[in-house]
Amino acid sequence: MSLNDSWMRRDLAVLWHPCTQMKDHEQLPLIPIRRGEGVWLEDFDGKRYLDAVSSWWVNVFGHANPRINQRIKDQLDQLEHVMLAGFSHQPVVELSERLVALTPPGLERVFYTDNGSTGIEVALKMSFHYWRNSGRPRKQRFVTLTNSYHGETVAAMSVGDVALFTDTYKPLLLDTLKVPSPDCYLRPEGMSWEEHSRHMFAHMEQTLAEHHEEVAAVIVEPLIQGAGGMRMYHPIYLKLLREACDRYEVHLIHDEIAVGFGRTGTMFACEQAGISPDFLCLSKALTGGYLPMAAVITTDRLYQAFYDDYSTLRAFLHSHTYTGNPLACAAALATLDIFAEDNVIEANKALAARMASATAHLADHPHVAEVRQTGMALAIEMVQDKASKTAYPWQERRGLQVYQHALKRGALLRPLGSVVYFLPPYTITPEQIDFLAEVASEGIDIATRAAVSVALRPGAPSNFHDPG
Ligand SMILES: *Cc1c(COP(=O)(O)O)cnc(C)c1O
Repeated sequence: MSLNDSWMRRDLAVLWHPCTQMKDHEQLPLIPIRRGEGVWLEDFDGKRYLDAVSSWWVNVFGHANPRINQRIKDQLDQLEHVMLAGFSHQPVVELSERLVALTPPGLERVFYTDNGSTGIEVALKMSFHYWRNSGRPRKQRFVTLTNSYHGETVAAMSVGDVALFTDTYKPLLLDTLKVPSPDCYLRPEGMSWEEHSRHMFAHMEQTLAEHHEEVAAVIVEPLIQGAGGMRMYHPIYLKLLREACDRYEVHLIHDEIAVGFGRTGTMFACEQAGISPDFLCLSKALTGGYLPMAAVITTDRLYQAFYDDYSTLRAFLHSHTYTGNPLACAAALATLDIFAEDNVIEANKALAARMASATAHLADHPHVAEVRQTGMALAIEMVQDKASKTAYPWQERRGLQVYQHALKRGALLRPLGSVVYFLPPYTITPEQIDFLAEVASEGIDIATRAAVSVALRPGAPSNFHDPG
């Protein structure tokens, strides 16, 4: 038995994996990883895989990055953890100062949680609580876009709209207001991204006009709806939304958990609209992909509505045990150092251009409806019928065939439904981008050539799922 097989057996005897139908592993091998270096992951039999999706969108400077490793090792010898209520420490103070300086003006207070979903919970609870503290207790509801994803905890699912993840749990969810997404894949032919995004804003304007007195906040994934299939829209939408939120006295929550830290071509997506949200939620790449941590950054105005004598019971009494973990802060500080010292955002422009040129030919593929890109995120949408953009039935799992082909060729490409995408570490080379484009092209050829017969069950989710 190979070492891979032996680890796989031990794993499958005791683990329950995330986002997985475990029965799939009767056919689909699980890949135990022994080590990582740069963009590469290496399994126990010595096979290497280029990590094209940054290990679920977290890794920005490669695996086992020596600068991040060293910072964590230094911190480990100093202080591994201390509770953050009543206590503080050097890395959390330094990181908070850096985040306030780095994010758009007005964002001045940093609250930490352990992962993205709980960061979203904090933003929702703070917004709700702010209106209560401000004598506006009717403002309790949240407005969200169709095809959104904001995480897996119950309130985070409530503001999400990817059917596969949320439909089962509907009876548990908050009653939110859903507004059609500005998703530019759905724009009428001949319309620009900007025109379409501006046009779609009318729905948001109408919802806010009707419901603003009961709305606490609008939550969006700025520029890219990630788990919803890397669907993209124009920054004009964010600009119009900021203006409307001010006019209707509604908070604006930017979930930049996936898109923050350079994914969209700027450090934060909101920079492209020239606006500051009331809450900026960050996680994933925050620690360079090393350790779980999220930050919710908000305004002084928000903070002041909670600041009072204890007996008024206005405080935000929310805590997660590992809040502000020093090792995670050290990883984040090292990550921010690399962004600054290596002028990463500027250097990424050449890589983004290479991603575009290496995949340009796919736009002519008979089963590709669109190749779209925002900064360092590029997505290729496979369809059954190009002219009408008719999707493949989700049960055919076409993306899974791309995934399997890529593994054979030594790449980790994990499509979302029929959407093949690259979201690579920024340490990838132009040649490695060309390699990924080649593997993706081959995979798309194989996946779209095959006749797939499946029993189509009606009423099943029509949305994206992961993986293909
Ligand atoms: C991943 C993600 C989350 C949830 O983060 P977790 O750390 O997985 O809980 C929330 N919002 C967006 C946009 C994400 O991509």
